[in-house]
Amino acid sequence: MSMVICMRSLKTIQNEILKPNNIGVSIARVFPTKTSMCPDDEHCYFGEPSDSTPMYDEVHVSVTFTWNIKKGWDLVDKWKSKARLVKIGGPAINGESTQPFVPGMYLKKGVTISSRGCPNKCSFCLVKNNLVEFDSIPEGNIVQDNNILACSGHHWEHLLKMLKNQKQIEFKGGLESRRITPKIVADLSNLKIKSIWLACDNDSDLKSLKHAVDLLKEGGFKQYKIFCYVLIGKEEQRLREVFDMGCMPFAQLYQPPTKYKYTKQMKQYQRTWCRPAAYKTVMKDLRRVK
Ligand code: SF4
Repeated sequence: MSMVICMRSLKTIQNEILKPNNIGVSIARVFPTKTSMCPDDEHCYFGEPSDSTPMYDEVHVSVTFTWNIKKGWDLVDKWKSKARLVKIGGPAINGESTQPFVPGMYLKKGVTISSRGCPNKCSFCLVKNNLVEFDSIPEGNIVQDNNILACSGHHWEHLLKMLKNQKQIEFKGGLESRRITPKIVADLSNLKIKSIWLACDNDSDLKSLKHAVDLLKEGGFKQYKIFCYVLIGKEEQRLREVFDMGCMPFAQLYQPPTKYKYTKQMKQYQRTWCRPAAYKTVMKDLRRVK
């Protein structure tokens, strides 16, 4: 459930077009923009190399967002002095990956992806490939699959087995509300969950979201563990309803492949509605006025 043409869906499409093909080869990974999902080991760079940057066998410029494509190609030129081979790839360049996930390479340690694609084909989402489940499930506590609950029961059980040994588990790729059942909630209750992420991109999602949140609450999950991506235009009502039904909204500005420039005011509004401390104050003030 990674949804929409926005940061969410792009982040969950793993940049594995740049797969390393030689063991023992030194590789620098270069990212045009630093995000919370980027790896941060010593061989990761954000932007141009400096005079003190060491030489590498290969440099992989990884471009996640379409609006960074030009910057990515500029970085290819800048990094040519630091390696004999400079490659560029990532979802913005090559589209959705269909390859099994390599942990820690282009997404930070702890992120795991065990399936790709999604059967739903929502019109606003960049995930267009059919669902593919991989046999091997890399260790990790941040589950970033596009729609893990669309996977087979067998695959889900396999994932649960791996997650049994993990702490601070986060379903950041999102869980599709319509697929949350009492059995899924019971499975989740047996794990050390830090956060469950749902989505509410249209008003028509509110009903199924409420059903999922009610099931999760009955299963013992408190509001501070249930988050919800809320795709916003101008409306605040859906954000308030999401909060009132018992989860933490996380507003996202719709972003088509050619980056749309939002006003400062709109960006501020989005920032307010993705920071619990900020929107709790808004809700408190609203209740006082009522
Ligand atoms: S359900 Fe699937 S197609 Fe729809 S937004 Fe989520 S990942 Fe995209």
